[in-house]
Amino acid sequence: MAARIIDGKALSRRLREEFRGRVGKLATQGVVPGLAVILVGDNPASRVYVGNKVKACAECGVASFHHALPAEASEAEVLACIDRLNADPAVNGILVQLPLPPHIDVRKVLEAIAVDKDVDGFHLYNVGGLVVGNTIFPPCTPYGVQLLLETTGTEVAGKNVVVVGASNIVGKPMALMLLQKEATVTVCHAKTRDLAQHTILADILIVAAGKPGLIVPRMVKEGAIVIDVGINRLADGRIVGDVDFAGVKEKASWITPVPGGVGPMTVTMLIENTLRSTERAHHLRKDDDYQDCEAPAVKAHADN
Ligand code: NAD
Repeated sequence: MAARIIDGKALSRRLREEFRGRVGKLATQGVVPGLAVILVGDNPASRVYVGNKVKACAECGVASFHHALPAEASEAEVLACIDRLNADPAVNGILVQLPLPPHIDVRKVLEAIAVDKDVDGFHLYNVGGLVVGNTIFPPCTPYGVQLLLETTGTEVAGKNVVVVGASNIVGKPMALMLLQKEATVTVCHAKTRDLAQHTILADILIVAAGKPGLIVPRMVKEGAIVIDVGINRLADGRIVGDVDFAGVKEKASWITPVPGGVGPMTVTMLIENTLRSTERAHHLRKDDDYQDCEAPAVKAHADN
């Protein structure tokens, strides 16, 4: 039986509608949430990502402040820009678009962002929070995946989850978030021997390797939920994930498409974190609300 599609675009639309309501409520108190985005250099892909974030802000009623620095900007200039934004009360979230030019120390830059405005969740404080299960800002891509999983109505506790990819921005935080939800988590990476031996055991398979065609049907358990985080541009211009979608959808119970799966959710969760930061700053929410990376209410497909 062909898998059901987990529709990231539709879920994003629903969440963004909800966000507009939250922005309206903030407006009654004279508060406009603000997100500052720092782009260093002119990487074309980064420009597209920043454009998408600015557009999503406008759609939800969030003010965006775009700081474009030249590729030759010094580390000190980037840090000074972050200092100013840390002190600016109109800015509730600060995002530095990665990658940065090689002469800039990424870790130093990420640690300079005020913990309370770290809406990407990359500051060590928030990474540490993820380890103990109460981060302020869950990183956007794994946070989006968590919500997509919720729409399937599947309880992750006790499930075998295999995460393929162990980067700091996707694979590792994803594994920690699902461990917190009491899944049995295996993390695979480029040095993993016999990848299929692990993936075949997955009730939930999450792939974030950046390798088109990495996951083929024989590596997937019948009825598994498959989440494809990969975004790869082929020579003919097509955008594909890491999973052989046409083949794997015949075996999986649920699957995300690329595009239209995880991608739209990443930007949507950035807005969620910006609203969360604004509500915290104005004492409209307590940190306790976020124990366990609790997500905004997501309606399961199964209930529709
Ligand atoms: P990365 O290059 O930082 O990390 C890739 C990870 O995959 C590494 O841990 C590496 O060891 C592992 N890997 C590479 N080849 C492998 C193989 N053959 N078998 C098993 N593991 C392998 O990449 P990243 O930033 O984590 O991104 C991964 C993919 O997800 C990319 O395609 C990226 O474009 C995409 N991405 C999508 C979103 C989104 O919003 N949908 C967000 C971030 C990243």
